[in-house]
Amino acid sequence: MIKKLMAANWKMFKTWEQATQTARELIVAIGQDLPSDREVLLIPPFTALRGVSETLAGQKGYFLGGQNFYPAKEGAFTGEISPAQLIDAGCRFALVGHSERRHVLGEKDEFLAHKVFYGLDNKLKIILCVGEKIQERKKGLVEQVLTSQLEKGLEKIDRNVSALDLVIAYEPVWAIGTGETAVNEDIVQVHSFIRKKLKDFLDHGEQIRILYGGSVKPDNCGSIIWLDNVDGVLVGGASLKADSFSRIVQA
Ligand code: PEP
Repeated sequence: MIKKLMAANWKMFKTWEQATQTARELIVAIGQDLPSDREVLLIPPFTALRGVSETLAGQKGYFLGGQNFYPAKEGAFTGEISPAQLIDAGCRFALVGHSERRHVLGEKDEFLAHKVFYGLDNKLKIILCVGEKIQERKKGLVEQVLTSQLEKGLEKIDRNVSALDLVIAYEPVWAIGTGETAVNEDIVQVHSFIRKKLKDFLDHGEQIRILYGGSVKPDNCGSIIWLDNVDGVLVGGASLKADSFSRIVQA
């Protein structure tokens, strides 16, 4: 059974102490009730990775991820972090192409394609984030934008990539951190379109998990998580508090 992935992106929030405390509270809040069809992924800032990793040690169904990495083994890349360093800190997953990296930090499709390839080749499971801006949606360009982001983002990897190693997150840019969520009909339509593209591009496209992200909260997760082709959620703001994220995980 492919499990639903419930991912918490803590962005540039929380000190080491706050992050480990939230992870501890989350484990207590969920207790023995982590549904057997769910996996929890915590993606704290780099400084908290080791602490959260120690907190999660021995907890079945919980994983750690990095928010970013630079596609090189090591070297003179001031301010960057390598896949090997993420793995050393306890990570199994990493985000690539989050809208804040694309649109605030200026990462382009070609660079992201290299990161997807390099991360997979260096034993990270990759979550490739895609999503349209509001102007693109208003102009009816959603499918065009997603096709381009998927085609370019996946162009360097093997068609035969394992469905355990790659995840796609659909995050409409206008829904991230705005409190505005895509309506369920749109989520179903876009996820089904992404599924079709994944089947075109990859041998195991049918099984690759597609997460929805964009203002997911405890009170809307219950309806989103059961939609067709929704294999989990990527949550920012509502994942910062253990009480709220534990309700999302169990929705
Ligand atoms: C995100 O950061 O990926 C995200 C979806 O944020 P939020 O849940 O706050 O919209």
